[in-house]
Amino acid sequence: MKTNQKRRQFIITSACAGLGYCFLARRTGLSAMNHLSTQDDEIPDPKKLNYCGYVCPEDCPFLKGTLENDVELKKEAYKLWQIEERFGVEFDPEKIFCYGCKAEGKPDGIVLTNCTVRSCAMSKELDCCIECDNLADCDEDLWTRFPEFKNTVIEMQKKYRASQNI
Ligand code: SF4
Ligand code: SF4
Repeated sequence: MKTNQKRRQFIITSACAGLGYCFLARRTGLSAMNHLSTQDDEIPDPKKLNYCGYVCPEDCPFLKGTLENDVELKKEAYKLWQIEERFGVEFDPEKIFCYGCKAEGKPDGIVLTNCTVRSCAMSKELDCCIECDNLADCDEDLWTRFPEFKNTVIEMQKKYRASQNI
């Protein structure tokens, strides 16, 4: 039970951002266990979750590098998120930033603008995919690349719906 809980927490905290770029980054050994989006006994709150169900950890180098305007951290994030390989964008500290999936009043960085889950949920005016009737059948890239994460989010949706009597 404990192991399953930790595993679910790991999946949740490992699955960001923008088509799984954060997932790739987190797998490289950054602390992944301490930033939980939901506990097993907690009802998921769509407003507190990112659009896909993830919660950005405070020690994310992309977020930290952006908030502290730390060029070295931004460089680290640039490599971890494979931004050159994926987007063909050269490193420029002015253009490489991320304030988080739902940061109000802040510009969207390259990872956010390329996340199809985020843009889809926003176009449907949802706070999170756990509110979407199509989640189980949704084949957006994030879900097909990370099916375990999708299963975790589906479980979150069940819990959310039960709490809302849906
Ligand atoms: S919805 Fe937000 S947190 Fe989730 S993968 Fe996309 S950009 Fe990352
Ligand atoms: S169709 Fe639903 S589950 Fe899929 S990305 Fe859009 S809001 Fe999320």
